Amino acid sequence: MKIHALSTGSIRVKHSFLFASPGWRRQLDLFMPGPFSAPLPIHCWAIEHEGTLRLVDTGETAEARNVPCARPEVTKEQELPAAMAAAGLSVDEVSEVVITHAHGDHIDGLVHVHARVLINEKELQYLNTPMPRVMRRLLRQPLPPGFEPEPFVLDGGPFGAFLRSRPLSDDGRIVAVDTPGHTPGHVSVICVDDEGRHVMLAGDATDTLEQLHARRADAVAPDTKVHVATLETILAHCAQHPTVYLPSHDPESAARFAAATTVDADATTDRQATAVASPPAT
Ligand SMILES: [Zn+2]
Repeated sequence: MKIHALSTGSIRVKHSFLFASPGWRRQLDLFMPGPFSAPLPIHCWAIEHEGTLRLVDTGETAEARNVPCARPEVTKEQELPAAMAAAGLSVDEVSEVVITHAHGDHIDGLVHVHARVLINEKELQYLNTPMPRVMRRLLRQPLPPGFEPEPFVLDGGPFGAFLRSRPLSDDGRIVAVDTPGHTPGHVSVICVDDEGRHVMLAGDATDTLEQLHARRADAVAPDTKVHVATLETILAHCAQHPTVYLPSHDPESAARFAAATTVDADATTDRQATAVASPPAT
């Protein structure tokens, strides 16, 4: 199995996005004036396995507009085809895309892909409810043209600490797991690499590893309790299996991926332990 870290430009987000305000100000402060972060990466991932090239998310495009809490900085030259070419890959060879969740910085790159696109059925249902519909119109963030993903159901039983999962590869080494919170149908994709480590392509399950250890709900989660429960589940999984935890926007994801640094699930801060040598029992 070969996993490639791709990056399609960067995004600045409001401080109140990364560090959610307490109580009723949590979502309100996203729309109030406030400081922005340094540029964060917009990662997506390519996986070569069993002769199949899969993508997890597709990154952002230069078309993306600023919204009150986020400012994408993407040029045409940084979009998916170039990001893949930099990794020695071609977008024409992709046979399947798995979407972690349907926000623009994860799905806008679909305009470049002619392949099967998979999405959690629950995420697709959520997209069609009034709140996301209104927000897309207000923020002028339409779904990419021709967006017609195939829904899947997380009916594959438990995987590690996750109660609901769905194998994506025939050998079950690439698995979608249920990580609701940021959006109700958010999934992460876990790849069991050749050394037995669980490489967790976490989308926006959190923005950073620090947020995971802090068990801090994010500012956009519709239900903070659901989000915090997911963070506990991820940490429980990290305690069971050596896990390389890779959120899409964590500035440290690329280095953690390159060094195969696994999460120290007992850490109360984002102190990280180096990968253990022996493969886990799955
Ligand atoms: Zn995102």
